Amino acid sequence: MHEVLNQSPPYVDVDFYGSDRPLRDAVAVNGGGREAAALAEFGRRWGTAQMFELARAANENPPKLRTFDPRGFRLDTVEFHPAYHRLMTESIGAGLHASTWTTALRPASAPAHVVRAARFYMTAQVETGHLCPVTMTHAAVAALTAEADVAQKLAPKILSRDYDARFLPWLEKKGITLGMGMTEKQGGTDVRTNTSRAERRGDGYGITGHKWFMSAPMCDAFLVLAQAQGGLTCFLMPRFRPDGTINGLHFQRLKDKLGNRSNASSEVEFLDAFVWRVGEEGRGVRTIINMVQLTRFDCAIASAALVRMALAQAIHHTRHRTVFQKHLADHPLMRRVLADMSLASEGMAALIMRLARSFDLAPDDPREAARTRLLTPAVKYWVCKSAPALVYEAMECLGGNGYVEESVLPRLYREAPVNAIWEGSGNVMCLDVLRAIATERGAASSVLDDIAQEAAELPGASEAVSFIRTAISSADGLHSSRQRPRCARARLWLHNCSRGHGSLGAMMRSLEQAMSRPRTQSCSLTAPCRRDDLG
Ligand SMILES: Cc1cc2nc3c(=O)[nH]c(=O)nc-3n(C[C@H](O)[C@H](O)[C@H](O)COP(=O)(O)OP(=O)(O)OC[C@H]3O[C@@H](n4cnc5c(N)ncnc54)[C@H](O)[C@@H]3O)c2cc1C
Repeated sequence: MHEVLNQSPPYVDVDFYGSDRPLRDAVAVNGGGREAAALAEFGRRWGTAQMFELARAANENPPKLRTFDPRGFRLDTVEFHPAYHRLMTESIGAGLHASTWTTALRPASAPAHVVRAARFYMTAQVETGHLCPVTMTHAAVAALTAEADVAQKLAPKILSRDYDARFLPWLEKKGITLGMGMTEKQGGTDVRTNTSRAERRGDGYGITGHKWFMSAPMCDAFLVLAQAQGGLTCFLMPRFRPDGTINGLHFQRLKDKLGNRSNASSEVEFLDAFVWRVGEEGRGVRTIINMVQLTRFDCAIASAALVRMALAQAIHHTRHRTVFQKHLADHPLMRRVLADMSLASEGMAALIMRLARSFDLAPDDPREAARTRLLTPAVKYWVCKSAPALVYEAMECLGGNGYVEESVLPRLYREAPVNAIWEGSGNVMCLDVLRAIATERGAASSVLDDIAQEAAELPGASEAVSFIRTAISSADGLHSSRQRPRCARARLWLHNCSRGHGSLGAMMRSLEQAMSRPRTQSCSLTAPCRRDDLG
């Protein structure tokens, strides 16, 4: 027998809001201060040992596909662990799936997005897999409104705060969730290659085809893309046909994923599955892109949350663990590592909450609308891409304990890459920033003017602004030798100072990538500059 010494206590029963000054400040500065008490209560609830335990159980007991019943009849249902359902009940009960929408499915007034983003950030620190259908339900509304009749019919069920896991037609349920199916075997980015075909069937259409990834398959309906006579079109596919019979969705398998294990991601075939059209024929991408903008934002929030949780675990451990007669956190080199991660994490929190404010103001303010258009892909790219390296850095702070499954770090680490891959992978985000600039050059310029003014005091900001201005005025300008030294200096500034104003950093990084500048360094915020980068 021996006495267990020098181990850090479990990181549970934490006040996620009260203990997170950067989050509180970011909420307050972006107009959410009056919700502080409600957010504090939410933060205490999600920080309990009980919620951490639900997250563990939901991930250690992944969902199972039930394709057939014992007599060979098709079931096509997925069975989740009760912990998953508890997490869903909490998140839907708190309105994470709908709180930025009014009863008429119009955008709710500010600070709806800021407050939701803060809640989403705290929730994702504990468990991200169940947030997949929560995110998709929230975002799907933006696309559904293209078809007012369908949207109005579904609105009360979408907005309901009752999570109802029963496999029933949506009309019979207290509340519903929505998913999305775009990716097919031959293409996820290039969805115009979709081969699923939609044929008219009375009031709706029937789709025959497949999807290679369709997550959260127990959602009550899915926004899917398929080829109609007029071209690629967006449809809403319910799990049950209007006559109450089970719709033609045949699940083939669930993906065996690196992480994101509490969430099910299916491969599915459609056999004349009934759908309603959403938006005009041939405008499928246009219609569904409104949804994707919001899911991309949630990817960035979730990645920032993974980083925050990893950092919190690292700080907690190093404040308790003693090495050479001193707490780890008091060793100068460890302090530097923690400080560096803290800067990155605080920058991410500031960045996502400022973007949430833009979503709040966008309906009445074209400049803020332009900011969401330009910055959502840039922020998704930068935050999601940076997360895996930062989570790994935090893991190392825990030493061997960090590498062991019972600590939360391995789960965070496995989860981190997915946000960069789905909803538009890295390169695609960078090209989207370029596209936003090319199609709305004037608006992009005004966004940059605003950011330049906000960041004017920061060292190096003017150089970063001039780099981005060059990109806005000419896509070729960045390749000229005259620009390189200035760009390089701006990049140095990025490493040292940009965390105070991540918008510039996110835009610079995505533009550099999109414009195929030579990759001289990794995408990690903490990666050192190479000498020849310094200009
Ligand atoms: C866990 C998980 C769950 C998912 N759930 C869903 C879901 O519910 N619904 C759904 O529809 N999809 C889902 N997906 C699919 C996901 O959205 C796609 O995997 C993603 O969009 C990329 O598509 P792809 O896999 O076909 O890769 P590809 O499109 O083949 O892309 C491969 C790589 O090439 C890059 N690339 C693409 N175009 C260019 C270009 N022009 N220039 C340079 N580089 C380029 C991309 O950035 C990417 O890195 C899920 C994926 C995962 C991993």
